[in-house]
Amino acid sequence: MLPLHIDTLSLITAVQAAVLALMLWVGIHGDVGRARTSLRIRALALGLEAAGWGILVLRAYVSPLLLLLGGNGLSLISQGICVVALRMLLGEPLRWRLVLAIGVVGWLGVAWFGLIEVDYRHRVLWGSFAVALYILLNIEALRSRLQPRGSRARNLLLLISVLAFVLVVWRNGELWLGVNPPDQISAPSATNFIYILFSGQQPLFASIGFLLLYNEILQQELHTLARIDPLTGVNNRLAIDESTAQLLDRAIRQRQSLGVLMLDADHFKSVNDRFGHSSGDKVLRALVSRIRATLRESDVIGRVGGEEFVVLSPGIDLPAALLLGERIRLMVESTPMLIDDHVLQLTVSVGVAVAAPAESDGSAVLKRADKALYAAKRAGRNRVMATAAFEDDDLALPA
Ligand code: GH3
Ligand code: MG
Ligand code: MG
Repeated sequence: MLPLHIDTLSLITAVQAAVLALMLWVGIHGDVGRARTSLRIRALALGLEAAGWGILVLRAYVSPLLLLLGGNGLSLISQGICVVALRMLLGEPLRWRLVLAIGVVGWLGVAWFGLIEVDYRHRVLWGSFAVALYILLNIEALRSRLQPRGSRARNLLLLISVLAFVLVVWRNGELWLGVNPPDQISAPSATNFIYILFSGQQPLFASIGFLLLYNEILQQELHTLARIDPLTGVNNRLAIDESTAQLLDRAIRQRQSLGVLMLDADHFKSVNDRFGHSSGDKVLRALVSRIRATLRESDVIGRVGGEEFVVLSPGIDLPAALLLGERIRLMVESTPMLIDDHVLQLTVSVGVAVAAPAESDGSAVLKRADKALYAAKRAGRNRVMATAAFEDDDLALPA
């Protein structure tokens, strides 16, 4: 065996966990979002873990009772808190009552077989049982169908969890089936050496995995935020440009058409002039909910200008797109809004274009819909007009 002492390994782990806890705690500040809170909780768990390993290092100076109940208690609490932190980061149900119950049962088992019916193998088995359940709770959260496929950080954490599980099973297997099993954690046996070496590195591996996942989740949140219009909550122009390209790709593969509707609130300036800008904002939100009410699940809506919106409707041809435009126009016209005790009869003009099954230029289709919209405006507003694919002729549907 290498000339390494178990106390040395425990000391290294204690220091490592304490420094990691401090770094995670200090390194995060600012807004307290869900992800940041979970990192704080993870830091707290690391601090408790460091204290647990610290008790093991100081075992010559502390009472055996404190060593047994304190060391195992801190280790279990810290692992339970890690489960909650990971589930919070992933947005999964925390299941903290179950986590608490597992910890209490594990700890009571350890206490029973450490103090009353003294039996080292049973003691380890009870502690390990709790740890194994915690690992399974982590695996369950990481494999949840809510989590995006193909996330590298998630897969790395899964791998670390599976290895930790194997380590726990192997340690107990050695204790029950091996030749000359150790009778305490600090006994200089190969099993203890390997167990402490790897479980001692666990805080470091798991913290790095946690940080990678944290980073990935923040990136996803930023990606989403960068594509949402803050006023109305619908897609912004960037998201609409991306969706148009995606839906056109799909339309080409499936040999289908794509309906594109450009909508603009009529005389919106006068709404602001009459009711003020913040009431104008409310009108925009109400308008979005009216448009949404007429759409299918697969339709995409976005805000591309102040009071200008786009609807992408996959699989519909020109007559169907004109009909959808007319449905929206009618819905807006026929459901007046109540603004500051005044009834507002808003109307919209709609420009319609359809991408033919083989058309791949999204901006050309959007431009055609825009052109049709301005034709509708010129023709007197509150109406739906279209440009046929690849043509400039305006096709009008009377209001
Ligand atoms: P038209 O029928 O030709 O579309 O007339 P309009 O008044 O709707 O068009 P115009 O482009 O002249 O004015 C658009 C108005 O929309 C002007 C602007 O103050 C208002 N607007 C743009 N963005 C917002 C917004 O986020 N909130 C509010 N309240 N108003 C906005
Ligand atoms: Mg307008
Ligand atoms: Mg406008």
